[in-house]
Amino acid sequence: MTATVRERPERGPAPRRRAATDRALPADRVAALVARAAAGGAEPVTTHAPATGALVADLPQSSPADIDAAFERARAAQQQWARRPLAERVRVLARLHDLVLARQREILDILQTETGKARAHAFEEVADVAINARYYARTAKHHLRSHDRMGVLPGLTTAHEARRPVGVVVVISPWNYPLALSVSDALPALVAGNAVVSRPDNQTALTTLWAHELAEEAGLPADLWQVVLGRGRDVGAPLIERADFVDYTGSTATGRDIAAQASARLIGCSLELGGKNPMLVLADADPRKAADGAVRACYSSAGQLCESMERLYVHTDVYDEFVEAFLERVERIRLGAELSYDSDMGSLTFARQLDTVVTHVEDAVAKGATVLAGGRARPDLGPYFYEPTVLTDVTADMLVHREETFGPVVSLYRVDTDDEAVTQANDTAYGLNASVWTRDVGHGRRVAERIRAGAVNVNEGYTAAWASVQAPSGGLGDSGLGRRHGAEGILKYTNTQTVAVQRLLPIAPLPGMSDAVWARTMTAALWAFRRVGIK
Ligand code: NAD
Repeated sequence: MTATVRERPERGPAPRRRAATDRALPADRVAALVARAAAGGAEPVTTHAPATGALVADLPQSSPADIDAAFERARAAQQQWARRPLAERVRVLARLHDLVLARQREILDILQTETGKARAHAFEEVADVAINARYYARTAKHHLRSHDRMGVLPGLTTAHEARRPVGVVVVISPWNYPLALSVSDALPALVAGNAVVSRPDNQTALTTLWAHELAEEAGLPADLWQVVLGRGRDVGAPLIERADFVDYTGSTATGRDIAAQASARLIGCSLELGGKNPMLVLADADPRKAADGAVRACYSSAGQLCESMERLYVHTDVYDEFVEAFLERVERIRLGAELSYDSDMGSLTFARQLDTVVTHVEDAVAKGATVLAGGRARPDLGPYFYEPTVLTDVTADMLVHREETFGPVVSLYRVDTDDEAVTQANDTAYGLNASVWTRDVGHGRRVAERIRAGAVNVNEGYTAAWASVQAPSGGLGDSGLGRRHGAEGILKYTNTQTVAVQRLLPIAPLPGMSDAVWARTMTAALWAFRRVGIK
């Protein structure tokens, strides 16, 4: 079967093409941001704007000596910081919340320039940092509080449990949501009394360095947050060798490597990895609302979002209506990456992302899939633009059926029952996010409970669960280990310490008492305490 690609009008104005030496951002601002990196000892790397090809930055890279120095500064600063009153640490986050909202124009420009995404998708990242800063500013005291615990011999033994910072947390973040993923994970680590050494992806380093500048303005002590630069394969191992905890967001394959390195050192790690997320449109769903939601859920940041939907299971009762409404909306998506809100979907970020998208679509078409929308690269708009794409007739032998595309490609499947939808949704090694659409919220909740994923959104694609940061976020199976957000998102950066005090009598035979008498006495005491409640 050959691809059927619908004719459509041109979408949105093309971004101005530029020579690779044109500057995408003001040179003095780039220089000021780059100077904040703990780098310089290794060969620099040049980055370009994906949407236009313009030069973004010549980035110094971090050598092992740079990394050593960054850790030395971070450890010294952490000792001071952990002793500061929590209220003082909290104030930094509260100020950062205000500053990121007030200064959003510049970071939106930087985010769009470095990633090629549409401005609305860049704004999601600004909102994410504000939401997390506010949440941890308001709840750190509650999460980090100490607890009196029941002693082994109540009245004679008291126990006290406290939270201590782990020390220096390494945050290795990817390029697709660079502000959200490098900053929002650092905030709870910092407020818990840790230092942070961040390694942003080179492609999006300026975004993290901008946040670093803002954090200092918000009152974060110099040196507490270090930013090192380098390719993952060059700096990953040296960072993990020095870390007290590693927070990694990226692909499953790299996540496994990082887990192995962390386990060899017996340090904790948190891994937020890939997904092949399903959206279920149930028989009682409103097809138009579900179609609106599908557009938001499938094409944010051109599908380069770990939480985005790549599989749509639609009940046969609403299939035709849903597909018509969905395609109509997909056709209207305006492609472009101008520094304004005039486009709906931007460019892919790298040639390799475009290659994966092209490979998945070509493989699917060659094996019999039908392209209902999109299915074309758009070099007329920029080197890595690809149209929002909808496939059907997708079968299990196609790459797109099971592998994460991480691009603007979604496959449509018709299902006859909830059971079939749930079975197919769960037929994956991943378990990050899912979405269920229905007019009956109770029905939605019951279906959600049967889906094997760290988050399920009812009547939304991903933002409801993701942005409800009081609740944890993270994946099952190949989608990762550990959680961000909520209590788990801050407690993972702490160790517990128990201080127990024994009074009056030791927990040992009294002078002159034999071990046998001691054992009988203890047995009687344990019987007596058997009904004492432990909270
Ligand atoms: P990747 O694993 O190749 O790279 C991700 C980041 O890890 C890059 O910045 C890279 O430099 C770094 N890295 C690579 N090798 C490393 C190593 N040995 N040590 C330390 N760091 C190393 O993944 P990618 O293809 O660039 O990113 C997309 C993937 O990330 C997708 O699978 C996506 O689902 C996943 N992702 C997951 C989440 C989440 O929250 N679950 C968020 C964003 C992206």
